[in-house]
Formats: sequence, structure tokens, C-alpha cells
Amino acid sequence: MIDLRSDTVTKPTPAMRNAMANAEVGDDVYDDDPTVNRLQEVSAKLLGKEAALFTPSGTMSNAIAMKVHTRPGDEVLMDTEAHSMLYELGLPATIAHVLTRQFRSAKGVPDVEEIRHSFHAESLHNPGTTLILLENTHNRAGGEIIPLGVMREIYQITKSHDASLHLDGARLFNAVTASGVSAAEFVENADSVTFCLSKGLGCPIGSVLCGTHEFIHRARRVRKMLGGGMRQVGILAAAGLYALENHIERLETDHANARLLAQGLAQISGIRVRNISPPTNMVYFDIDASSDVLCRKMRAQNVLANPIEEQTVRLVTHLGVNESQMRETVKIIQEIYEKS
Ligand SMILES: *Cc1c(COP(=O)(O)O)cnc(C)c1O
Repeated sequence: MIDLRSDTVTKPTPAMRNAMANAEVGDDVYDDDPTVNRLQEVSAKLLGKEAALFTPSGTMSNAIAMKVHTRPGDEVLMDTEAHSMLYELGLPATIAHVLTRQFRSAKGVPDVEEIRHSFHAESLHNPGTTLILLENTHNRAGGEIIPLGVMREIYQITKSHDASLHLDGARLFNAVTASGVSAAEFVENADSVTFCLSKGLGCPIGSVLCGTHEFIHRARRVRKMLGGGMRQVGILAAAGLYALENHIERLETDHANARLLAQGLAQISGIRVRNISPPTNMVYFDIDASSDVLCRKMRAQNVLANPIEEQTVRLVTHLGVNESQMRETVKIIQEIYEKS
């Protein structure tokens, strides 16, 4: 199987499993797991933040951040197509009890002037905007990168309104590898940030949430409340430490493979690739027929893809697929098109 549904399908490599098997562990609810503590220290340092917290998922990290940065009823600004809007089962409403105000971003990059005018001051009538959430890279926009300059401007606006900025950096290291901007430079422009270990970095589970000591202290309590207090999870944190050392630079290979796919698919008539030079590890393409039907035909040829909209397919590259499989994928899709 060539599984291009998501970078979440990556399986731990033998070397990662070895690191996991040998991890020193303790009860993390008592702060006693040395491997978790190390992952948190290494992550905070890498991102230039004071502290970090290991969480089971990006969704839980986002929930915690929204809850810590806001009070019930506050306004939170986010993209209409943000993961937190579309794929987190309404958690801004159900867990953080906030009102979302949405903006649209061209190709995943918010319009700075629109953002400038979107903040509401607290008044007799309005709860006030206390948080803005950004996503980098932007999943629904095709793994697009919000440039450092845009993040800087939005952060300045956020601070002038005394609000906080949370960065959903599920794929932050894809942005880092593709742009050459360091993680710390990106997140200098955020009060808190979460990144996923479980995606392109290849771990079986986990995310890391980073911010100030004060933020992480409060985040730890919310994590506990949500049922995310974990015990001997150094076994999982060891995978994270291994990935931060060994799986960041190789993301460039995933990006090269995505470009190869995009360029190959763009040659097939009937397929409209959204970005033939994808910035990171995702390829979105539109067709005039059912994406479900196409994905079923691909599956019959051992290629798995995600029919993300009725006529749109998403392919994601990762460490579980290689260059020759990219060429094979293009060939298989081309053959499906020639037959129909
Ligand atoms: C995957 C993802 C998340 C959530 O991660 P889970 O670990 O699956 O809960 C959040 N934001 C973005 C942009 C993502 O791609």
C-alpha cells in the first residue's frame, strides 16, 4: 500500500521503537517521568519558550490553549478553514465556551488589514476579542506557510489589543524546513504554540504545547481536567525526543516528493492541481468527477488517498513513502484516467 491519506499514518521506525523500549519512565502526573521532562525541556528550548507540556493530541493542545487564554464568552478570531473550526467537533464552543469570529485567508495567509479591523474591544455590548488562533502550516490551504513578516504584523496587532496569539503549529517543522526560518523565530510571534509529534515527525502519538511558565502551569491543570494526565509516558516521549533529533531535516524529502507528485499529476488532463509547486508535504487536486469514486479506484491499485471534498483529493507525503512510489502513484492515476 502507498498510503497518502495523511502524515498521521507514519509508523515508528525500528530506531524509534528502540528509543521507546529503552526509555526511563516515572509517573508523569507526579512530574516524575524523566523522559517526559526532557522532551518538555528540549521542546521549550527549541521553540525559545519558557516551558512546555506533553499532550496526547493537537486537538487537546488547542483546547487547553483556548481555555487558558480566554474566559467564557470571549471572542476568538480564527480562519474559517482552521482545523479548530472544521475538525475539532466545536470545541471552541463546547470546551472553551468562546465565540468564534472568522476570517478568510487567501491561500492560508491572513489579510493583515482585515485582522487589524477584526479585534473588538470589551464594552457594555461586546465581550472583547482576547485570542487569535493562527495555523502554520495551513492544512486546508494545502500546507501553505504563513510568512514570518505576516506573523510579526499580526502579533503586533494582537498585543496592541492586549490579546493573545496561539499558533496551531501541528506542522510547524514543515514550515521551518521549507522556509529556513527557525521554529523560535516563527513562535517569537506567538504567546503559545503546539506542534504534533504524530504527523510528519513520525511518532505514534503526541503533541507538545509551549508557552510561559505561568501559561504552562495553568495548561497542566486544564490537561488534567480533560483527562490528559498521563503516567509512565516516557515511552511515548522517547519517540518524540528521537524525532526531534532525527526526523526534522528529512521533512525536506517529503516536500520534494510532494512537488514530484504535483508536477506529475499536473500532466494528466482532467486533473487540476491547486499548487504545482507545493510549499510543504501536501497536494490538493480538483477533478470534474466524484473524488470518492477516484479514491476507490486508486485503492484497488494499492494507493490510498483522502477524498477531502466532493471533487477534491488530498495527498500527503511522509516518511513512510519514497520517490519511486510517487512516480508509481502518478502512473496509476494516469492509467485510471486513460481508461475512463
Ligand atoms: C492534525 C491537526 C491538529 C490536531 O491534531 P490531532 O493530534 O490529530 O488531534 C490540529 N491542527 C492541525 C492544523 C492539524 O493538522
